[in-house]
Amino acid sequence: GATVGILGGGQLGRMLAMAAARLGFHVHVFDPDRNAPAAEVARAATHAAYGDEDALRAFAGSVDVVTYEFENIPPAALDLIEAVVPIRPNRKALATSRDRLDEKTFLHELGLRTAPYAAVDEEGDLAQALAVIGTPAILKTRTLGYDGKGQARILSPEGAEAAFAQMGGRPAILEGFVAFEREVSVIAARGLDGSVAAYDPGENVHEGGILRTTTVPARLSPGLRSDAVLAAARILNALDYVGVMGVELFVTARGLLVNEIAPRVHNSGHWTEAGCLIDQFEQHIRAVVGLPLGDGARHADVVMENLIGPDMDRLPALLKDGSRVHLYGKAEVRDGRKMGHVTRIRRA
Ligand code: ATP
Ligand code: MG
Ligand code: MG
Repeated sequence: GATVGILGGGQLGRMLAMAAARLGFHVHVFDPDRNAPAAEVARAATHAAYGDEDALRAFAGSVDVVTYEFENIPPAALDLIEAVVPIRPNRKALATSRDRLDEKTFLHELGLRTAPYAAVDEEGDLAQALAVIGTPAILKTRTLGYDGKGQARILSPEGAEAAFAQMGGRPAILEGFVAFEREVSVIAARGLDGSVAAYDPGENVHEGGILRTTTVPARLSPGLRSDAVLAAARILNALDYVGVMGVELFVTARGLLVNEIAPRVHNSGHWTEAGCLIDQFEQHIRAVVGLPLGDGARHADVVMENLIGPDMDRLPALLKDGSRVHLYGKAEVRDGRKMGHVTRIRRA
């Protein structure tokens, strides 16, 4: 059988590996961490650094296609792999989404709207950026941020210096604070043949920068619902994308703004496990190996709740209350660490 290579062995890699196995593929996970959650469900695992050229070449040589669970893979590692085997989603999708400034530039070129923004390469750029964007605003590192890490709110110009200090000297982007009504996301897939399938938008609640719940259907007018799906399709087509993508959106009184895109399966798509015949993980594997996409239709209303750190104390109760429980097999509970998620069906 064919072998799927997965870069990154966290919970997303683990769920991708399980979906690939269910479709009859072998899985080879690459992750430096010996305890990577995906390793124990894969046929093969390489635990080496992303700078280990021999390990990367051996990995690439052992698989038929490479996909990934995170967007911050060192480009040199991707160069080595791509010389041997296709990487899906493609390099353009990775390059666009790994840097918030490039991402926003790309979205604007596509005619999509975002929060107002300005580049802050060094501290000296911040006053000028604040004069243009105003306050409140959010300063974010251009690369490597996730779960709200690498972000600082600026409530008034006096707070600028302290915010920049939190960027650790890295280039940043200043975004105007969006007074959104709600946050939604579209999980969409594009196949090797160019066909696109989108799941119904989900409504997301974040706490402390981390996704807490996704509820489907999102409260959206029919017009905004199709705007959201069409925006996602436009992004996928423009990138000649193959795989599943998460598109995060702000709903405002004046329509939708794109917050960010993730070139991978997405936490806000975990509800598809319980709400759809073909979930986002199977859909992603289907796309990257060149199988036809599955039907993304939804057969239930769903609430997905992340189990973060001490939420694990509620596990005994959740196991009894009819929730579908999905745990990632992480040994150590830490504050802010995603340990698993539960899904509840609201209506059949
Ligand atoms: P993820 O884990 O989704 O990758 P991230 O670290 O990349 O998160 P963002 O999605 O940029 O961070 O921001 C996290 C959350 O912070 C958003 O979902 C939203 O609730 C809030 N937020 C981010 N940018 C803005 C903004 N410009 N205006 C208002 N709220 C914002
Ligand atoms: Mg992000
Ligand atoms: Mg986000």
